[in-house]
Amino acid sequence: MKIVYLDNNATTRVADEVREAMLPFFSDLYGNPSSMHTFGGQVHRKIEVARAQVAALINADPEEIIFTSCGTESDNSAIMGCLNSMPEKRHVITTRVEHPAVLNFCKTIGKRGYRVTLLPVDKLGRLDLDELDKAVTDDTAVVSIMYANNESGVIFPMGDIVNIVKSRGVLLHTDAVQVAGKIPVDVKKQPVDLVSLSGHKMHAAKGVGALYIKRGTRFSPYIIGGHQESGRRGGTENVASIIGFGKSAELAGNHLSAGNSKLIELRDKLEFGLSETCPEARTNGDTENRLPNTLNISFEYVEGEAILLRLNEFNICASSGSACTSGSLEPSHVLRAMGVPYTAIHGSIRFSLSRYTTDDDINKVLDVMPGIIKELRELSPFVK
Ligand code: PLP
Repeated sequence: MKIVYLDNNATTRVADEVREAMLPFFSDLYGNPSSMHTFGGQVHRKIEVARAQVAALINADPEEIIFTSCGTESDNSAIMGCLNSMPEKRHVITTRVEHPAVLNFCKTIGKRGYRVTLLPVDKLGRLDLDELDKAVTDDTAVVSIMYANNESGVIFPMGDIVNIVKSRGVLLHTDAVQVAGKIPVDVKKQPVDLVSLSGHKMHAAKGVGALYIKRGTRFSPYIIGGHQESGRRGGTENVASIIGFGKSAELAGNHLSAGNSKLIELRDKLEFGLSETCPEARTNGDTENRLPNTLNISFEYVEGEAILLRLNEFNICASSGSACTSGSLEPSHVLRAMGVPYTAIHGSIRFSLSRYTTDDDINKVLDVMPGIIKELRELSPFVK
């Protein structure tokens, strides 16, 4: 039976073109890019092509991109790289709704003597820019604010954030893991200092990420070892995945230029269809500023995990809260920060589409969901 995969904010399928681009680097082209010989040198040159492809997706220069092992490493490196480069400053600002790659990292450094400010969001998941302005002090080393949220899909106003943070002379990092390839990111128009990216969220392989470091930014390496990545990240490169990441960035750029209208049409069809056929369904987050592929919707008085299990029986993949934190039944920290009522948080489902999502996929969900919700509501102790 065909899988209906609507969990693309958790991970994406590797594009066929990406897989093709990767294959030679598992067999014929296995040289070490750092080697002096021509055999390794040709691999080095291919990595530089991939660097240029990833750079082009965010309008950066290739020398401003380093490859990492994942989005999490990019986030950790960005924050720690800034802190290590200015040991006299001990304050970090981030938000309550970051991915654990930032939030838990900041909480950990908070226990090691740094002062950490967690900015709140409102009930639509929007950031209060006045709070950001008030939080910046002379002691602030870095502000880390995600470009868009992986659970709600809410996009933060990066232009305004840049204006506030840069006018105070503080470094700004953004986690753009969920954004790259979905909406345009332009580091020249919105001059943030550091940007995290991850391959597997944009149809490349798992285990590869990138960090943009604006030319001239004070940064000390987080992974210390050899002289790879111009001395900014030690470790022999994950060559095949990097080559694939480059290809996926090129493809994403082409798809972005062609526009997202089909993706938005499908997401909206899902949203309106579910709202009409499932009583007490409510969308979470700011629908005016939202990733084109994401729908976070709550079905009150029903357990999200129960919905997922029932969807699973129809080979439909979605997620409740963040898939990266599944395994814990803790309610989503993002929806809690937004003040979504308890009964709605527990019944929240995130559907995340990709350019491979079809009308049939959406029709299938619209077909089965009303029955699932009705059946689970009848079992719910909260509904008379
Ligand atoms: N940041 C965001 C916003 C994410 O959604 C994720 C993964 O879900 C990450 C960081 C971590 O990326 P990776 O899985 O490549 O470590």
